[in-house]
Amino acid sequence: MELPQVSRKYVTSRQELGDKRAQALAEIFEQYEKLPALAARIGFVSLYVTGRCHLQCPHCYAEEEFQGLTRDASTEQMAKIINSLAILTDRIQLTGGEIFVRADPESHRNDVLLLVDEISRRNRETIVQTTGMHVTNSMLAFCANRNVKWFSLSLDGPDAKSNSEIRGDDAAFTKTIALIPELKKYGFKVKVGTTITSVTSDINKIVQLGHMMVDLGVDNWKLTQFFGREVGRTSGLNADRMSVSDDTYRTIVEEALRLFRDKIRVTIHSLADFYASPALLVQPTGVVTVTQGTKDVFMSNILTDQPKAIINRLQSVNGLFTITANAQKTY
Ligand code: SF4
Repeated sequence: MELPQVSRKYVTSRQELGDKRAQALAEIFEQYEKLPALAARIGFVSLYVTGRCHLQCPHCYAEEEFQGLTRDASTEQMAKIINSLAILTDRIQLTGGEIFVRADPESHRNDVLLLVDEISRRNRETIVQTTGMHVTNSMLAFCANRNVKWFSLSLDGPDAKSNSEIRGDDAAFTKTIALIPELKKYGFKVKVGTTITSVTSDINKIVQLGHMMVDLGVDNWKLTQFFGREVGRTSGLNADRMSVSDDTYRTIVEEALRLFRDKIRVTIHSLADFYASPALLVQPTGVVTVTQGTKDVFMSNILTDQPKAIINRLQSVNGLFTITANAQKTY
């Protein structure tokens, strides 16, 4: 069956970048095929494709800039990173910033769908983390054909007004609510993340949101306790203003679990979990870090170090097991 045409704003194939770049990407893929497989792989890695975002959430943990990069990294550089990640893990989460505002610096077009294709060529799964505000049905059809199983979205309130306390744009609510049924039609699983902050800690609103998650058939509703990460956009700057106490968070989580855990999967991510189950983060410069509580710890550079060396380093800091635990908990 012929797939619907994706907008020209998005690069969907190597050839759209011209013969020379298509050849370069083919050669990068050939290099991947020569890389030795690893006996043990990590369950899940998050790859930043950009630091830029069209929203300005005051609780944002994400990186805004990467040392040495003034623009987004090229498609070729991202493909080289994907080569090593596909050796390291089975599941690559593309994250940002907002992934669909990334722009390859030469074509000035968004190449995330091409990156999804490159990951799929390596027989790996892409997890798509997005605000969902740019996603169209033709993009969903493309992803459904390229080994994407999960979309990860965010909602912080049960209506546009309360969601906008965090997201600052009513469309972030209306478009997300409209997108979820479309995702389900294509057979994707949907995770919705809700961060409990001081401005979104009204338990009645969180309960309303829970009912909405059930009605929409969300597969995983993840309730995260806000914390101020030392690096990244805004969470650290707003840590005092937006934090919630352990007691407030626990009360909300207990009520959400009581009401909804028999209906949908509800996962919780408290501050203690951030310490116990770090995430492996990879920047578009190749820099690899592991979160340890509010801090990031430098591990390696995936563009210069072999995947095996990264695994060895993770094992030496006792991080491998807990990163795997994080993957299982998240999706
Ligand atoms: S939380 Fe997500 S949507 Fe909000 S500013 Fe950060 S990257 Fe953008």
